[in-house]
Formats: sequence, C-alpha cells, structure tokens
Amino acid sequence: MDASATERFDVVVVGAGLAGCTAARLFALKGLHVALVKHHIDIQAFKQLCTHFIQASATPTLQRMGLDQLIEDAGGVRNGIDIWTRYGWTGDIAPIDKSGEPVFGYNIQRRTLDPILRRLTTNTPGVTTLFGCGVRALAKRNGVVSGVELGGCRTDLVSAPLIVGADGRTRRWRRSRASSQISRRTAVSPLFALIAV
Ligand SMILES: Cc1cc2nc3c(=O)[nH]c(=O)nc-3n(C[C@H](O)[C@H](O)[C@H](O)COP(=O)(O)OP(=O)(O)OC[C@H]3O[C@@H](n4cnc5c(N)ncnc54)[C@H](O)[C@@H]3O)c2cc1C
Repeated sequence: MDASATERFDVVVVGAGLAGCTAARLFALKGLHVALVKHHIDIQAFKQLCTHFIQASATPTLQRMGLDQLIEDAGGVRNGIDIWTRYGWTGDIAPIDKSGEPVFGYNIQRRTLDPILRRLTTNTPGVTTLFGCGVRALAKRNGVVSGVELGGCRTDLVSAPLIVGADGRTRRWRRSRASSQISRRTAVSPLFALIAV
C-alpha cells in the first residue's frame, strides 16, 4: 500500500533492509500501523557486499515471521557450524533445542533473501511502504521527537511516537536532533537475531 500525505503511524521504520523489514513485520503482526521508509524504489534491491550464512540463533525469529518456509521454498539450505577448539570440533556436539529437535540456520544468497523478505513485509497488513523516500531529519514538537522529515518522492512530515533507525550505519539524520528518543535496537546487530519487538 502507498501512503497518502501527512498520515500518522504508530511506528516509523527507517530503512527496508533485513533489520527494517523484520522490525516492520513484527510490529505490524502485533497490530501496529507502521510506515516503512526506504531510499531505493526497487523492491528487488539486495545487499551486494554480504555472504550467505544465517546463524541458528536467528531461526526462531524467522519462524515467528513466517520467513523460514519461504527461504526453504526458494532453495535455502539448512546449515550448522563446526568450529575447531582446543577440545576438538564443536560439530560433534550436534546441538538440539528444548523439544529435542536439531538446531540449524540457513544458507541463502542475499539476492534471493532480500526481495523475499521485502515482499513479505510490504504485503503485511498494517505496513505502509514509502519507497523512494529518504529520511532527512527528525521532526520535533514541543521539544519531543514527533516524526521524520522525508525527502525524495515526498517532502512532507510523517509522524509517529516511535522511530526505529534500521538504516545500517549511523547516518546524519540520526545525529541531527534528539536521537536519544530513537530505538537503536535494530541499527547495529547481526541478521535477525536482533529483533525483540
Ligand atoms: C562482506 C560482508 C559479509 C557479511 N556476511 C554476513 C553473513 O554471512 N551473515 C550475516 O548474518 N551477516 C553478514 N554480514 C552483515 C550483514 O550484511 C549486515 O549485518 C546486515 O545486512 C545489516 O542489515 P540492516 O538492515 O541493519 O542494514 P542495511 O542492509 O545496510 O540496510 C539499511 C537500509 O536503509 C536504507 N537507508 C539508509 N539511510 C536511509 C534514509 N535516510 N532513509 C531511508 N532509507 C535509508 C538503505 O538504503 C538500506 O536499504 C556481512 C557483511 C559484510 C560487509
């Protein structure tokens, strides 16, 4: 769904990479009205500089999102880790979860993963996409962060009480004003293991 001007949201998520799409979908599944803002207009865009390994610790989040089956359908391969230590190979331990099932992650290329997740998120009821827009700065009302100023396809304000910075490395807009009111949870952590919405 495309947003019309000056809408209010419960959450604005800045950046539609893995962190942003994950946060937006999980917030929306909780019933919140989410704006997902992304520089690029292309839903097929993917991170060029990355390898293919998703650790097993992320699998519960993938399952919660309904992404695990989509990864398998797209040819993602279940993986494990085998690390040499002074006590031998860790792979000999064969980890299992609470229900006794083997623990695994996935190997999948970003050119496949990113579009799958972005499509899943943009089709989630409650998520409004603002692709082709960049966040230029935080907006404040009475000294409190009240939303973001957009640039690109739209140049108005989008308001929400919670702004999630999922734009990768720290950008100028986040340093601009009152950045302590932004959730940084999604900004610096590895794939998927990070989200605790
Ligand atoms: C060589 C390499 C190999 C890696 N291999 C692995 C691996 O095997 N396994 C693993 O788990 N991790 C790996 N990583 C790390 C992984 O790539 C990152 O942790 C992950 O992609 C970060 O996702 P993100 O969504 O936080 O940020 P990003 O992918 O950087 O997404 C941020 C998004 O925000 C958008 N954006 C930025 N500023 C704005 C703005 N002002 N307004 C609107 N949108 C904005 C950008 O366009 C971008 O789409 C690797 C990294 C590198 C460099």
